[in-house]
Amino acid sequence: MPKINYQQLEKKLVNAKRNAWDEATDKEKKEIMTFAEGYKDYLNSAKTEREAVTCGIELAQANGFKNLESCENLQTGDKVYAVNRGKSLVFIVIGKNLAVAGFNLVMSHVDTPHLDLKVNPLYEDAGIAYFKTHYYGGIKKYQWPTIPLALHGVVILANGKKVEITIGEKDADPIFMISDLLPHLGREQLKKTLEEGVTAEELNIVIGSLPVADKNIKERIKLAILEHLNSVYGLIEADFASAELQIVAASKARDLGFDRSLLAAFGQDDRVCAYTSMQAIFNAKKSARTQVCLWIDREEIGSEGNTGAQSFWLENVIAAVLEKTGENANFKDVYKVFEKSQAISADVTAAFDPDYKEVHDPRNAAYLGAGVAMEKHTGHRGKAMTSEASAEYMQKLREVLDKNKVVWQTGGLGKVDQGGGGTIAMFLAKRNLDVVDMGVGVLNMHAPMEIVSKTDTYQAYKAYQAFFEMV
Ligand code: MN
Ligand code: MN
Repeated sequence: MPKINYQQLEKKLVNAKRNAWDEATDKEKKEIMTFAEGYKDYLNSAKTEREAVTCGIELAQANGFKNLESCENLQTGDKVYAVNRGKSLVFIVIGKNLAVAGFNLVMSHVDTPHLDLKVNPLYEDAGIAYFKTHYYGGIKKYQWPTIPLALHGVVILANGKKVEITIGEKDADPIFMISDLLPHLGREQLKKTLEEGVTAEELNIVIGSLPVADKNIKERIKLAILEHLNSVYGLIEADFASAELQIVAASKARDLGFDRSLLAAFGQDDRVCAYTSMQAIFNAKKSARTQVCLWIDREEIGSEGNTGAQSFWLENVIAAVLEKTGENANFKDVYKVFEKSQAISADVTAAFDPDYKEVHDPRNAAYLGAGVAMEKHTGHRGKAMTSEASAEYMQKLREVLDKNKVVWQTGGLGKVDQGGGGTIAMFLAKRNLDVVDMGVGVLNMHAPMEIVSKTDTYQAYKAYQAFFEMV
């Protein structure tokens, strides 16, 4: 019997955790850092879904994409984009024979947890003017008081004019803030659970304190704020009813750590996947298969709504492409195309947090720096509220990732029965195509600043590019 070399055997048989930095050459390390600079610029100019889409359109045009609506006919190799209500965006590179070959789709979301202004937000109390808010998506409410906040959004005035507002991002801008109780008087508050400590109706934004001079006016500070809003934006109080105004963290994307290997920013769930998939479609080799990169809205509240993943907008876009390529199109055919297609639900996952080991399954969690994470399924409680990728599809993607030297890991959102969460994968799966979740691991997901690894971000970019090129 020859002596067995167990070190070789271990290398062959055991699925070891990887570190993407270990596998990067010095040249690649530079590329990873350079890629992060572009990503930071995008994060800083795209804090709402509307801003993300505006930014995406500019970049699409700069990369030779044309508005689908303006194209009469489409040929193989044409690059087009389409927009839904300014809040979702799709980039398409036309392949050969879409009706027969289907498409490769990477779908991410550009909405992010934040605070929306209520429809009637403005009031004053005890010498302070406030905006009332209603949170959007899954936030931990205690994280929002005492941090600098910015106001972003649009107001449609009574005359139909659209006013865009962004305050709190430039150094010279004022910021906004939610106050918290001083510890000296916080004894009762501190006995509450983190969930109850700060309530939704306490998430009121301090916006001013200067009254108008006329003491006969009942709410002098409120009127002063309205006077300001009217003089700068032409806004009256009733216009809040036709507005989409969001409160976000007033922070820039920053390098994190002495070694700058990490990145902290607002809204990386899921703009890290949106940005990387966009760069991937810009840089992918053209393929026989049509390539589709879709940014969707409303994921954080269940993908409901006309700009969410449950909307039939994607069907309409594919039908339009079929029509413009001269391929036969009726509604039945659209779903036949979906059946031949394959997708990645590009969304973030929880990275293993050593301070909170107890919620993770350490053998099945994604780790920071270990590459892009592929999740066979998400969901919770017995795999509810999720789709699951088939063994066959998982194999196909493994092969593509390995062939393209993408550093990847498997991921899973926490221990079984710990909680969990869903993605848009299940809404794609409804259209009867193959879909798997693949994205970047995030620390303190849904917090006003979230942490990712720059190398995982770069691996996601490489993974999506390889997927777009996959036949
Ligand atoms: Mn997400
Ligand atoms: Mn999320």
